[in-house]
Amino acid sequence: MSKYIPTIGLEIHAELKTKTKMFCDSLNDPFEKHPNTNVCPVCLGHPGTLPVMNRSAVEAVLKVGMALNGEIPQFSKFDRKNYFYPDLPKAYQISQYDLPLIFGGILDGIRLRRIHLEEDTARLLHQLPDNLEVTSLKAAPAGRQVKASYVDYNRAGVPLMELVTEPDIKNADQAVEFAKALQLILRYLEVSDADMERGQMRVEANISIHSRDDESLGTKVEVKNINSFRAVHDAIEYELQRQQEALEKGETIKQETRGWDENKKKTVSQRSKEEAHDYRYFPETDLPPLDLSSFALGELKNSLPELPKEKRARLIIEYDLQPEQAVVLVADKKVVEYFENAVSELKTFIPNAGPRNFQTLFNYLTNDVFGLMAERGTSISELKLTPENFAELVAMVITEKVSSRAAKDILPKILESGEDPHELVKAEGLAQVSNEDDLTLVAKIILERYPKVVADYKKGKSNALQFMVGKAMAELRGSGNPEILQKVFKRILDSV
Ligand code: ADP
Ligand code: MG
Repeated sequence: MSKYIPTIGLEIHAELKTKTKMFCDSLNDPFEKHPNTNVCPVCLGHPGTLPVMNRSAVEAVLKVGMALNGEIPQFSKFDRKNYFYPDLPKAYQISQYDLPLIFGGILDGIRLRRIHLEEDTARLLHQLPDNLEVTSLKAAPAGRQVKASYVDYNRAGVPLMELVTEPDIKNADQAVEFAKALQLILRYLEVSDADMERGQMRVEANISIHSRDDESLGTKVEVKNINSFRAVHDAIEYELQRQQEALEKGETIKQETRGWDENKKKTVSQRSKEEAHDYRYFPETDLPPLDLSSFALGELKNSLPELPKEKRARLIIEYDLQPEQAVVLVADKKVVEYFENAVSELKTFIPNAGPRNFQTLFNYLTNDVFGLMAERGTSISELKLTPENFAELVAMVITEKVSSRAAKDILPKILESGEDPHELVKAEGLAQVSNEDDLTLVAKIILERYPKVVADYKKGKSNALQFMVGKAMAELRGSGNPEILQKVFKRILDSV
C-alpha cells in the first residue's frame, strides 16, 4: 500500500441544449459549422446591449439539482467574472459566485458542493504555418508558431452548467464512474447531450495527495483539457504518480493549473493557479436577482423522468433481470425504452409471458440486434425494426413457429426493410414445422433413403439419430422442429 492518500474533486461543465443562448435569442446550435452564424450584438459583447435571462436554462439546472438532491435556495443571482481573453468579448463572463442555483446534493456517495449557471466562451482556432491544419484549442500549441488565429462566436453565450464536487473521490476509476453517472442523468433529463468528445461535457480534475501520517489535505493541482472518459482516468493516474514522485524527491507540490496532453499522455504546467480575487467578481447589475420561489418548483419536480438508478431497480424486479443486464439497458434511455416497448408488445403475442421470455427478448436484443447494429453503424433511433416486429419475431421463436436458426437468418432482413416478420416467414417458407404427422412423412422418406443408417441405429450407434435429423432438416430447409423430429424418428425406429 502506498504511503499517500489521493484526494480528487471534479468541476464539470455541461452545455445545456436550450433553443437559444443564455442571455440573447441567438440560436444555440452546437453543430453549426459555418463560423459566426448564430450571433447577435448581445453575444458579441457590443457596448450598450443588455442580457435577458433564459428561463429554460435556469429550469434545466434546477432539474439537475432536484435529480441530485441538491438544495434550491430562495434567492440566486449572477455575477461578473472579469478576465481578458480573446474568446470572451465583454472581457467578463456572466457566471455565479456566492449564490449559485443549487447548493449541495449527492451522486453515488460523492457530495456536491454547488451547481451554477454561466455562459460559454467563443471558440478559438489556430492555423499553423506549415500546413492548413486548424486546431481548435484555447491556446495555440506550445512552441508552435501560429499563422493566424480565428474566433468563432457561435458558442459564445451558450448556457453552461457547472457542477463542483467536494473532494470526496479517492481514485481515477471512481472519478470516471462519477462523470459517467452524471452524463447519464443529464441525458435522461434531456438537458444536455453531454458528449465529452464533442466538448459538450468538460471535466476538470483537482488532484492532491497527502501522507497517511498527515491529517490535512495536500496542495491540489487542477487538470484541464480532458476530452474523454479515458483521458479523465489517464490524467488522474498520471498526476497522482507525478505528485508522489515529486514528494519522494523531497519537492513540494505547486498549486497550479496543468493541461492534459493527449499525445504525450502527460500533464503539462499551464499557469500558476489564479484566486477568486483575481477575477474581481461583482454582481451583474444588468440582471435582476432571481427569486427562485417564483418558479413552479413542484411542477418541475413532477416533470422529472424516472432516473437511471430507480429504473435499474425497477427493471430487476419487474422483469427479473440480472443487475448487469439492467445496467446494459439503462446505459441508453432509447435502448431501455425500446426494450420496455418490446416487452409490452410481447405480452400481446404471449399473454402469460414471464421472466424466461423476457430473458429471451433481452438476449435477442443485446446479442443479435446490437450485433447487427454495430456491424452497420446504426443507432437504436434509426432502427427500422420496430419494437412490435421485434417482439413478434421473438414470440414466434418462443411459440416454436420459427426455429431460432431461421429467426437469426431473417433478422438482418427485417432490420433493413422493416418488414413484418410473419410476412417474411411466410414468403420464405420458414415457418417451423412442428406438426407430428407432417414430420413423420419426411422422416419416412429419409429412412428409406438411408437403410444403412437404420441398421447403424439398431446396432446402437449414437450419432445415427442425429444424422437422420440433420438430413430431415436439410430436406425441410431448416424449418423442421428439431426436438419433434428427434421424437418422431425415435418412435418409428423403435417400432420397427
Ligand atoms: P478553488 O478556490 O481553488 O477553486 P475550491 O475549494 O473551490 O478551490 O475547489 C475546487 C475543486 O477542487 C472542488 O471540486 C474541490 O472538491 C476540489 N478540491 C479542493 N481541495 C482539494 C484538494 N486538496 N485536493 C483535491 N481536490 C480538492
Ligand atoms: Mg473553483
